Amino acid sequence: MVKSRLLLPVIAVFSVMIIFSSCKKGNIDVQAIDAGKGTDYTEQIDSSEPSVPDSTVHTSTVPSAIANYEYSWTGSDNIPPIVIIIDDFGNTNDRLLEDFGKLPSEICFAILPDLPHTKDAARVATENSHDIVIHVPMKAIGNAGSPGKRYIKVGMDKAEIKDMIASFKSQIPMAIGANNHMGSEVTQDAATMNNILESLNSSNLFFVDSYTIGTSVGFKLAKSKGYSSGKRDIFLDVPDNSNATLASKIEGLAKYKGRKEPVFIISHCHNRQKLEALQNFITQVQSMGIRIISLSDAINDYPA
Ligand SMILES: [Zn+2]
Repeated sequence: MVKSRLLLPVIAVFSVMIIFSSCKKGNIDVQAIDAGKGTDYTEQIDSSEPSVPDSTVHTSTVPSAIANYEYSWTGSDNIPPIVIIIDDFGNTNDRLLEDFGKLPSEICFAILPDLPHTKDAARVATENSHDIVIHVPMKAIGNAGSPGKRYIKVGMDKAEIKDMIASFKSQIPMAIGANNHMGSEVTQDAATMNNILESLNSSNLFFVDSYTIGTSVGFKLAKSKGYSSGKRDIFLDVPDNSNATLASKIEGLAKYKGRKEPVFIISHCHNRQKLEALQNFITQVQSMGIRIISLSDAINDYPA
């Protein structure tokens, strides 16, 4: 007992040192990933298994390693506000979903259609005043897994796309916009993207490009058509949910200093580790004076 009491602080100090020293290394890889160098990396995340049953997840106390990280920049005055979207809701209706619901109301829920708990996710988001977007399944390059029961493919005509989006919207009628689930193949194809954007616009839905591939034309095309739109800047949970990754993402916010448009951040709802990482991230950026704004405010305040 006495021994373990002595050991604990030593272990804690070493853990912080390891996390600290791995941050710099992690930075380079993560930035390369976030810049979208042509790999469809998020689709591994997007096609992963539904969340682990909540009761089996160990709830740990949140370590303070992020706060201990000494950021190489100071002052958050000209860091733009950030927008946070959580992807892939619809697979579960459990305590984890309820706990995601308790996040600050500025956080947006991206909900997949055609799933057993699409409507439950929409209910929890609405009860907690979160913005909702339809997480529209779109075909990925190659065999990255099925995006869903129904999904948009390259070459579908406008009527088919319009009908599918109308059907998705009927399941999630309170949605204010849409973003793509997977979609590395579809978002590169200008003709299909054009049909998607026009169908969304006629349903009063704006498009946020999840930017699952660096050659996506979604955001650019939306802007050229005069539609309000956004584009993902950072995947918070890529490659993992460690404190080292979180610290590198926070450090990486420095590159957006002076930008007028908000920074668009996407994370996922698959397990409690992702929720805890997001909570840590929110606490940290708020303590640094960075503002988190809702997706609807971002779209209204920074229109096309
Ligand atoms: Zn997704």
